[in-house]
Amino acid sequence: MRLARHAESLGLVSYAQGNLSARILGTDYVLITPSGVPYSELEPQDIVTVDLAGRPVHGALEPSSETIVHVMTYQAYPQVGACVHVEPPYLNALAVANVPLPNVLGNFVYLFGGQGLGVVPALCSGTREFAERSVQALAHHFGVVWKNHGLFCVGQDLGHAFNRCVAAEQAARVYYLALLLRQTSPDLIPRDVEEEMVEIARARGWARPL
Ligand SMILES: [Zn+2]
Repeated sequence: MRLARHAESLGLVSYAQGNLSARILGTDYVLITPSGVPYSELEPQDIVTVDLAGRPVHGALEPSSETIVHVMTYQAYPQVGACVHVEPPYLNALAVANVPLPNVLGNFVYLFGGQGLGVVPALCSGTREFAERSVQALAHHFGVVWKNHGLFCVGQDLGHAFNRCVAAEQAARVYYLALLLRQTSPDLIPRDVEEEMVEIARARGWARPL
């Protein structure tokens, strides 16, 4: 809840958009934000518990309309402890303009293991096909851009997944601004430096393979 509100204050989501979930450690149950409740009004009792099929088992409210992506991600990747979905404007703008986000910032390289973001084409969210495409993309990435929609990141815990969302939007914002300034191709992190960063990230567990 604290992170959900933080996401709004950072401009990563607005009002009731986006959703967060966390696996209850050692169980097949997931805590997820409810559908349609503004983050500023969210109370602890509003969080819904669902099973790995997405069926609510505890809580008075409807779980997020994108619950299927969350639960299918937990089913496919037992190491994933949390998923965060935000709708960040710079990342969305690049995706809509078909501009892939390269490795422009160190934090982006560290937290995504040098692999950047996967991309899922514009599909109706909440459907099984949408969820399957997302889960497939997560086989090689810690985060996936849902084109014309937003970003979905995974992590060992909520803080980790949230940090990835922040790093991706920061990189998108910097790249967007750099493109405006230069109107050509901005300098990226040199390949050898990037490889060194990936090694460090692996050694320190920032970019643990899924
Ligand atoms: Zn959404």
